[in-house]
Amino acid sequence: MELFWKKVQFTGTCWIWTAYLDRDGYGLFRSNRLTPKSWRAHRLAYALEHGSVPPGHLDHLCRNRACVRPSHLEPVTPKVNAERGMKAQQTHCKNGHEFTEENTYRKPNGTRACRTCHRDREKLPEALQRRAEAQLRYSARLKERQG
Ligand SMILES: [Zn+2]
Ligand SMILES: [Zn+2]
Repeated sequence: MELFWKKVQFTGTCWIWTAYLDRDGYGLFRSNRLTPKSWRAHRLAYALEHGSVPPGHLDHLCRNRACVRPSHLEPVTPKVNAERGMKAQQTHCKNGHEFTEENTYRKPNGTRACRTCHRDREKLPEALQRRAEAQLRYSARLKERQG
């Protein structure tokens, strides 16, 4: 695997992959002789150190995606990884309500929204007015159909 380590720059802390990086900033290693397809460099480094690659995600403890130092890599299950991602997001809505499980819902486009804010908006006079008008239009249409 000399070929592999030749492409690594050993800095004081992180070992930086100097060859090709993919779109996401992870190192890519390609060798026709040893590996028919390309490998993520950090996964290969981990496999060289530990003998195998764990299923699922390998997290960079140093947050440096180009780093291939095995001791900077920690296998995480998809669940833990998702939880970490959630924590990285904001914890409160723009009006300061906490995004707890009960207070959060997903909009169709996948973004989070605050239930308290949604409820407050529905209590506004304009919202009440809107609903009253919609109700009137609905009964008018019903009458037309019956009529
Ligand atoms: Zn590192
Ligand atoms: Zn809110």
